[in-house]
Amino acid sequence: MLLLTSLEMLEPSTSVQYVKGIGPRLAEVLATKGIHTVDDLLHYLPFRYEDRLNPRSISELRAGEMATVIAEVRNSGLFRTRRMPIFQMTAGQGRARLKCIWFNATYLRDRFKPGQMVALYGKVEQDYRGGELQLTQPQFEIIGEPSEDGSTDSAEQTFAASLEMGRIVPIYESAGQGRLTSRWFRRIIHTALQNLTPDLPEPIPAAVRRHLSLISSREALHKVHWPEPGESLEDLQSSRTPAHIRLIFEELFFVELGLELKRREQKAQTGIAFQLNDSVRSAIKRILPFHPTAAQKRVLKEIASDMEKPFPMRRLLQGDVGSGKTIVAFEAAIIAMENGCQVALMAPTEILAQQHYFSARRILEGVGYRVVLLTGSLEDDRKREIRRHIAQGNAQLVIGTHALIEQKVEFAKLGLVIVDEQHRFGVLQRFKLMKKSDGSASAAQGEPDVLVMTATPIPRTLALTLYGDLDVSVIDEMPPGRTPIVTRRVSDDRSSEVWDFVRKQAAAGHQIYVVYPVIEENEERELKAAIKMYKELSQRVFPQLRVGLLHGRMEADLKDQVMRMFQKGELDILVSTTVIEVGVDVANATMMVIEHAERFGLAQLHQLRGRIGRGAARSYCVLMTGGKVSEDGERRLDAMVRTGDGFQIAELDLELRGPGEFFGTRQAGLPSFQVANLIRDRQLLEAAKLEAAAVLAGPNAEISREEISKALRHMRAHWQKSYGLVEVG
Ligand code: ADP
Ligand code: MG
Repeated sequence: MLLLTSLEMLEPSTSVQYVKGIGPRLAEVLATKGIHTVDDLLHYLPFRYEDRLNPRSISELRAGEMATVIAEVRNSGLFRTRRMPIFQMTAGQGRARLKCIWFNATYLRDRFKPGQMVALYGKVEQDYRGGELQLTQPQFEIIGEPSEDGSTDSAEQTFAASLEMGRIVPIYESAGQGRLTSRWFRRIIHTALQNLTPDLPEPIPAAVRRHLSLISSREALHKVHWPEPGESLEDLQSSRTPAHIRLIFEELFFVELGLELKRREQKAQTGIAFQLNDSVRSAIKRILPFHPTAAQKRVLKEIASDMEKPFPMRRLLQGDVGSGKTIVAFEAAIIAMENGCQVALMAPTEILAQQHYFSARRILEGVGYRVVLLTGSLEDDRKREIRRHIAQGNAQLVIGTHALIEQKVEFAKLGLVIVDEQHRFGVLQRFKLMKKSDGSASAAQGEPDVLVMTATPIPRTLALTLYGDLDVSVIDEMPPGRTPIVTRRVSDDRSSEVWDFVRKQAAAGHQIYVVYPVIEENEERELKAAIKMYKELSQRVFPQLRVGLLHGRMEADLKDQVMRMFQKGELDILVSTTVIEVGVDVANATMMVIEHAERFGLAQLHQLRGRIGRGAARSYCVLMTGGKVSEDGERRLDAMVRTGDGFQIAELDLELRGPGEFFGTRQAGLPSFQVANLIRDRQLLEAAKLEAAAVLAGPNAEISREEISKALRHMRAHWQKSYGLVEVG
């Protein structure tokens, strides 16, 4: 018997299909939730808990509260009102009755039978006549069937009921379009825990556990799913029980350990120690078209001091749109070029690469640096020729898109890589990219320095911890002479007033952007689309003005041409999609009209608005809404009108969208988390970073060599499994 159970023991790495009750088919459904192993299943945490140990009695309910009620089904039925079908169920406890209603819920028709026990959870409200209390749209679970012949429950039923009642019960998100219910998860996870091997490995060093008073992994897994009767419901709901803290910390700790290790490895590599003598300094001074701000001076100092050191720079330069990152990048480029090295400047789009190229020619070519632009739209012959120049070292500054430069460009002597506007570029992708560049530099020469520039203001605590592999510099000051942008929102039934204002701006010699969410009408029916509105605006609304069109599906040549015309002031109005979102810099553009502003994300609106307000003249941003605006939409528009501060906007955006969406986790190449939440768990993240650094600083009296290598092994397995990165560490 004992032998049998030990054979059936589940290891964390066991595939979920071997958990009793799952099997290959359901395992596939679970895989869509990212649940592949027993360990994944056990980290599928309840999103809330119900107190069914002390459920409320109907008579003590108060309007306005959220309550869990356990009661017996009395009767139910579907009512058709003029507006919609309403399903109504009456539940009872002894003589007390409670009405529950669900709108549009025809699917509930045959769901309840009199005599069933149900657990209900929802908001207590007064019914519309102001009379009885009712639960509106409660979540429910049928937890006991009526015994038909009056016989006693079977042992199995009693066991099942014990999971549903008389305790704090975990509630899980369902999966497989509702096929795998919360109740199903409860039973399966219970089974998995029962059969879980008693000796779970402990990958966190004892000293770290002691510092944070962490409980064991096994205890945490049990208690997070099946809290003990005395546990605080509030701590449970906010994921602050010792069990939650152990699991969350563990996840963050191994992410930070990987980042920290990477950072150390980078620091240990041989880089290029650039000379920063007087001739380099005067070369930098020579190009400056204006006095740099104090913030620009400070970040240049930080960059220059990295560049002087004999190990490779890995620095993130953060600065809100328009804060003047480009000139800082050019200054860094000069340091490298004056030291006889080449510089690669990578932009995310062709338009941006193009624009950097124009600025570079204006600022750098005039004083003798050789700048080339490498874009996909060049003729093959021309591309080959440019590549030759780069390989021979004639080209000093190479500007292009990421795709192009990453591919097959050979440099004679690459000293500095500048990655611009990569807010869609996170740690994971950077790891992959840098890995790639490892091979390209010859050992004698040293690893090139890397400067990443981003306009996404990332709340500072998050930046420091998440970009743990990078040093961070922040430009927190705008160039002088800017007047704040006036932002207004109007409904599009007042568009003629807006167009009048556009005419005035144009008459004063300024330029205007008009932005649409989609290119063509048929993409989303009621949305105004760029192409159609371009026709409308150029022919009917502004026949006397010069109107251009820019969108992502145009030929690259044509895009360049339009952009150049706008830059030179040959167009008054540029009708566009979000292709202008990043980096475009036309100081004479003083007005932006964003149609269907309710459709855009907050970060996107902020980026778009950053295209104006770049000169001395007052700039105006008009957020036009068309149709109904959601609650979140209201908050976004409201934030835009209220503030121009990118960090404030980022904080709110993070709050509205949650970290996954905010960073576009996968896309952004940021680690995605099973149990941690970057906003809620900020403090644990900081603690994890500190502890990870301390572990890597060992071994010492607190932490043994064995513990460190055990932690590192676990970390590698975690990174490999979660992010497919083998090369960490
Ligand atoms: P971003 O940080 O968004 O890339 P840019 O580098 O494009 O910003 O700079 C925005 C505008 O501000 C450019 O027109 C640039 O020439 C100008 N600028 C940058 N720094 C200064 C400064 N110190 N004084 C005056 N104008 C500046
Ligand atoms: Mg820029």
